[in-house]
Amino acid sequence: MASAAVVVDDLHKRYGDKVAVDGISLSVEEGEIFGILGPNGAGKTTTVECVAGLRTGDGGAVRVLGIDPWTDRAGLTRVLGIQLQESRLQAKITVREALELWSALYDDPVPWRDLAERLGLTDLLPRRYAKLSGGQQQRLSIALALVGRPRVVVLDELSTGLDPRARRDVWQLVRDVRAEGTTVLLVTHAMEEAQELCDRIAIVDRGRIRALDTPAGLVGAAGAATATSFRPSAPTDLEALREVPGVASVHADDGRVVVTGAEDTVLALLPVLERQRVVPHALRVEAGSLDTAYLDLTAAPIEETV
Ligand code: ATP
Repeated sequence: MASAAVVVDDLHKRYGDKVAVDGISLSVEEGEIFGILGPNGAGKTTTVECVAGLRTGDGGAVRVLGIDPWTDRAGLTRVLGIQLQESRLQAKITVREALELWSALYDDPVPWRDLAERLGLTDLLPRRYAKLSGGQQQRLSIALALVGRPRVVVLDELSTGLDPRARRDVWQLVRDVRAEGTTVLLVTHAMEEAQELCDRIAIVDRGRIRALDTPAGLVGAAGAATATSFRPSAPTDLEALREVPGVASVHADDGRVVVTGAEDTVLALLPVLERQRVVPHALRVEAGSLDTAYLDLTAAPIEETV
């Protein structure tokens, strides 16, 4: 059996009265791409910051390849690379200077020019950080996370701000890095990214893990067989929809009602909508996906009528 590269054991973290992480435990195997998915404010960044030694937990323990990141920052730096949300470099540093500086910190860095090429940064080497677009800054921060040839890399919102081609390139880079043995801990909001890249995913909500499985395992989880969605012509009683046989969850999302459940749920829904005098505009019935599993597993605050 592969050994664990990252172990998080009953992690707790609060900011004043605010509980950000409320007892998270997980174990990431060496060479695994492990995703952490969840709504805004769920505690994802706090968790990976505790893994990366940028924050200390209030309770529990973390080990990265046996290293305690809260007490051995120097040891951790040798094995862990991190790309954080909104990492900020000095405005005047150029792309070349940043890559040279970072690679000088490590004993056995990857050739930074190769990394720059892979991330489409070659033409930008003389450009100052402040003059890069958001997506270009993001690509540089991914390069800096990887230049030290880390055995574990933490990527927080990897593809935010990247155009579709850059996103695909970065996904391939992550797969290649993993093929060389690096363990990847990935925080993401993008279902497609999670589904494409991750071996396993933890869905985190309000500081706790709600589900932890392979993408296929999560999709196959209770109730996520199909998603029926529509734009209601009039206010809709969502509670009545929840009581329809076969329905697993009902969410209102940006003016659309999304109902997850068994395959034939739509047949049972239509008479209920008719009784409410609601016409389901732009009705769609889709096979279960990570999206539907996510909606089932994270309890978003919902309005009872839309
Ligand atoms: P997002 O998807 O929006 O990035 P997240 O899941 O990464 O969210 P965290 O950034 O870990 O969530 O935040 C968890 C909770 O802790 C949130 O309620 C947030 O407001 C709060 N929080 C985070 N950082 C701080 C801080 N430095 N001081 C006070 N509260 C904080």
